[in-house]
Amino acid sequence: MIVAQAKDINEIADKLTNYEKILVAGCATCVAECMAGGEKEVAITASALRMALRLRGCQAQVAEVTADRQCEWELIEEIAPQVEAADVVVSLACGVGVACMWDRFEPKPIIPGVNTVFLGHREKPGLWLERCAACGDCTIDRTAGICPIARCAKSLQNGPCGGSTDGKCEIDPELDCAWHLIIERLKAMNQLDTLRENTPPRDWSTSRDGGPRRVVVEDVEE
Ligand code: SF4
Ligand code: SF4
Repeated sequence: MIVAQAKDINEIADKLTNYEKILVAGCATCVAECMAGGEKEVAITASALRMALRLRGCQAQVAEVTADRQCEWELIEEIAPQVEAADVVVSLACGVGVACMWDRFEPKPIIPGVNTVFLGHREKPGLWLERCAACGDCTIDRTAGICPIARCAKSLQNGPCGGSTDGKCEIDPELDCAWHLIIERLKAMNQLDTLRENTPPRDWSTSRDGGPRRVVVEDVEE
């Protein structure tokens, strides 16, 4: 899932003081799962904004809505009446949702209310961890399901770097060393020998180097 984190309410409020009708728009999918932008967070953000704006001498109305997803045209359309009625929207969707909202409603300003931080999963209540950097050429099988691009602080393809201590990364002792985890897992699988083979330099053209990427499913493309 896409993991996001709420922005500081004052950062958002500072951008809204010249508007009269504000809509806080949530997204009921990834950002709801990571408790940054679902219906509940929309209510909390809207209340906090009302207070922050009053403190700035602004009497704006703050309305609330939540789309099932802000990254699907059909689902964006379902909240179009509320968006059209607002002067400005604070979107609690990930960056993809915010970009789609701009595409659909330009020139209406859509202000991000969260920071999109990574692709990851919920480890336990209140803790989400990064697991994939969307490199465009998944080779996670080589490293027993632990992605060194996303989880090694240096994104080493052939690790470890030699700096880890007691299984922790030299960059941050709070972090597990990804390569320590990879080695331990391969050892348990009796496949440690696979690391004797050097992984060649990656072809990063599948990643961000060539600009925005696209995926085409030919049978479906219209
Ligand atoms: S190899 Fe690439 S696609 Fe696979 S998990 Fe790592 S970053 Fe994600
Ligand atoms: S200590 Fe481990 S996780 Fe940290 S940079 Fe080195 S190999 Fe990567």
